[in-house]
Amino acid sequence: MTGENILGRMTSVRQLAAMGTARLKAAGVECADYDAKQLLFHCTGLTEGTYLADPQRRVTQEVQDRYDRLIHFREQRIPLQHILGHAWFYGREFTVNSDVLIPRPDTEVLVEEALKAIRPGDDVLDVCTGSGCILLTIACEQKIRTGLGTDISAKALAVAEQNLTRLAGEMAGGVPAFAQGDLLDPAAGKVFDVIVSNPPYIPSRVIPGLAPEVRDHDPLGALDGGEDGLAFYRRLAAGAEKALKPGGVIFLEIGYDQAQAVSGLLRDASFTDITVIRDYGGNDRVIRGVYGRS
Ligand code: GLN
Repeated sequence: MTGENILGRMTSVRQLAAMGTARLKAAGVECADYDAKQLLFHCTGLTEGTYLADPQRRVTQEVQDRYDRLIHFREQRIPLQHILGHAWFYGREFTVNSDVLIPRPDTEVLVEEALKAIRPGDDVLDVCTGSGCILLTIACEQKIRTGLGTDISAKALAVAEQNLTRLAGEMAGGVPAFAQGDLLDPAAGKVFDVIVSNPPYIPSRVIPGLAPEVRDHDPLGALDGGEDGLAFYRRLAAGAEKALKPGGVIFLEIGYDQAQAVSGLLRDASFTDITVIRDYGGNDRVIRGVYGRS
């Protein structure tokens, strides 16, 4: 009896994780097991390694209550990254909140492709920078000369600035700057070697059917690409030539079914060598185009 009482009060971390997983599954969370463990690690300070080394480890009631609250948030379909306050992107941790799009693994393909083209000393422009994940990763990986990240949202740029501070010690060369404004406007009068952008590209009518984590917690302005999802590509394709040096390259993240339409827009804007790159799921994900060479 006494033993039972003690067990009742002192739950093991394995039991907690199992309870968390069951609750998240019931709430329709896709990666219930993973999320339950990440939340457990967050409130216990355990790591995958220390957890596996001693899954019978007991935790106090206080920790259990804290875990219960975190699981409750996730049951409400608040994204894991918002509860943790950070997201992993290209091997680095970025601060995120509801003012920025949570960086997606698909976007790592855009970074990877852009890095193949970016040379030391290049000037790089990131349009719709959000958390700054694309530009800051590039600046950590390559010795750029200058980097400029633009976003219409001042709140998003506040997060990008936090991430700049966070990664300041990792910059390989020039330290990027951020500027508020519509698409290419803050870059007026400047020219760049490479433009990267992951603009909002979801057709407006598709948004109500998205997972609650995305629909209710990513900023609508970071998702909504207008009636056909192409509104920002049209404006970017039309304006990019003014912001590129001759031979400069543009990399655009796209939706899985937008390759043809966006290639067409770049072709009409006199871009050449237009290439479509797939993500690791096999979907078209990135379009690359060269300005002013034939
Ligand atoms: N550039 C940021 C990202 O890729 C934000 C993109 C956006 O807000 N559409 O995560």
